[in-house]
Amino acid sequence: MSDQTMINKMLDARILFLGPPGSGKGTQCKHLHAELGLPHLSTGDILRHGIEEGKPACLQAKSYIDKGNLVPDNLITSIFKERFMMPDCGHGFILDGYPRTVPQAESLDGMLKELRLPLTCVFYLMVDDQLIIERTTGRLSCSNSKCGAVYHIKNSPPQVAGICDVCGSVLKQRSDDNVEIVTERLKVYKEQTAPVIQYYRDKGVLQEINGARSQEEIYTDLIGGIRSCATAGGR
Ligand code: AMP
Repeated sequence: MSDQTMINKMLDARILFLGPPGSGKGTQCKHLHAELGLPHLSTGDILRHGIEEGKPACLQAKSYIDKGNLVPDNLITSIFKERFMMPDCGHGFILDGYPRTVPQAESLDGMLKELRLPLTCVFYLMVDDQLIIERTTGRLSCSNSKCGAVYHIKNSPPQVAGICDVCGSVLKQRSDDNVEIVTERLKVYKEQTAPVIQYYRDKGVLQEINGARSQEEIYTDLIGGIRSCATAGGR
């Protein structure tokens, strides 16, 4: 395969990220989006933007998000599908936060089969509970949803406290990033999302990545993983 063919395959990759809240999925997806130009579909971001904009379906989801619970499958699948069917997802994309239950994974499989767009790679970012609590409770996000830059109060603070380096907007803490709600999100993750990891492991497509390292080390592994899947012709 020529270098150009491989680059083209990487630019068309269909990537799925799995991992607990705070495992660094969003950060890595943003880097990959910037590097490969693939649309980044984060259901968490889609819901938060939709709530800000007063979209009825997203407002319906708010009470679940506020409690750290999952939004019901039929509601989240219709919200996801609306975004997924937009023309920019016709070739490659990065999925972050969907699917989170086995029925969602089965719905996604059905959509991808119909569109003849099989996933290129599935990454599972592994991080232990203690690090998750530390990362999520110190996380700060830009209040400008078009910017979406993310910081950590200790590990990657902004240059000026409380202000986004990128766009100058005020930084805020997500309402579901406090210890109580994160603990609930972790419980829900173990009960409902861990089986999705097994679902993709059983299909033989899962790549397990140690998410407790530096962003750069993880990113290098991800690019290597995408390159090898692209070389293998996708799955
Ligand atoms: P995230 O930003 O990915 O941590 O998502 C924030 C919240 O949005 C989650 O705690 C859920 O309440 C909701 N959510 C996001 N994606 C899904 C999904 N695929 N299924 C159900 N709920 C979701």
